[in-house]
Amino acid sequence: MMIPVKNITTSNIECSHCQACCCRMDVMIISDTGVPDKHIAVDEWGSETMLKLDDGWCSAVDRNTYLCTIYENRPWICREFEMGSDECKEEFNVVKWV
Ligand code: SF4
Ligand code: SF4
Repeated sequence: MMIPVKNITTSNIECSHCQACCCRMDVMIISDTGVPDKHIAVDEWGSETMLKLDDGWCSAVDRNTYLCTIYENRPWICREFEMGSDECKEEFNVVKWV
């Protein structure tokens, strides 16, 4: 059964034990920050997004550490996504398995 978790305090939220929930979102690439081509998906209209693999995560996530392997070159959207922000809280343990 899935139960939505509400009122998560910001102090409980840390990327280090989050398993990079936000890295399962669709990430558009809107400027050139040096993302390697192998991590870029291009649609039929030429729009670029971070490539997602079959497991649902961005291809640039290290599957063991859940850290970004292209941190210095990550897209602007990733840079703007702030730990503890409302968007982060929404992604971070939105549901809990019991
Ligand atoms: S920004 Fe938020 S959702 Fe993304 S990895 Fe960090 S804690 Fe998780
Ligand atoms: S580029 Fe890095 S920070 Fe952005 S979604 Fe992929 S793994 Fe996460």
